[in-house]
Amino acid sequence: MKIPFQLVLATNNLNKVAELNHLLQGDFKILTLKDVGFDQPIEETGTTLHENALIKSQLIFEKTGLPTLSDDSGLFVDALNGQPGVYSARYAGPQANDQDNMELLLHSLAKTTQRSASFKTVLSFNLDQKHYFFEGVAAGVILEHPRGSYGFGYDPVFRPLGADKSFAEMDRETKNKWSHRSKALNKFIQFIENQQLT
Ligand code: IMP
Repeated sequence: MKIPFQLVLATNNLNKVAELNHLLQGDFKILTLKDVGFDQPIEETGTTLHENALIKSQLIFEKTGLPTLSDDSGLFVDALNGQPGVYSARYAGPQANDQDNMELLLHSLAKTTQRSASFKTVLSFNLDQKHYFFEGVAAGVILEHPRGSYGFGYDPVFRPLGADKSFAEMDRETKNKWSHRSKALNKFIQFIENQQLT
């Protein structure tokens, strides 16, 4: 029997933990920040997804010495010159919730027909003294009105190209077929298998 590869997921976002958990089940034993006794927010002071992902994985790796995986993601909207991008979580202000952010996005796009956008994820993985990045992109469009109630963040207003549903109308398994996060994670899983760590 294979020994599961143990890693810490350096995120406080329970939706992300659930999505990543779903994809990593089997050969991996996943520890959350709570499992390793870390209960403080991690300040994301970077200006790129790569910087923010690295801040999170590096900090938790230094605290625990365990292999650590983190995720930083954002929605890049073409008509807004890539906004909200790395600031997606705080688009409508530091205290904004998902609803506020979505409303501001729809308002910002009210006068344009250019609706193309992409979700991007950067995973950062710290293993021993090295670190690695894995990227995933989901291209799509911003809908005129929110649709669906699954998921989180901008899911109700994002429809990936080629799909007939918004992310929020997809159950977890279906979203994982299309999502930026699952694309990045599949690269990570491939990497772990190539290193024969599981
Ligand atoms: P962060 O990666 O924790 O900094 O979060 C980035 C923000 O991007 C989240 O708070 C969401 O608003 C948004 N976001 C990232 N991934 C997704 C996704 O899969 N669906 C919807 N929104 C997302």
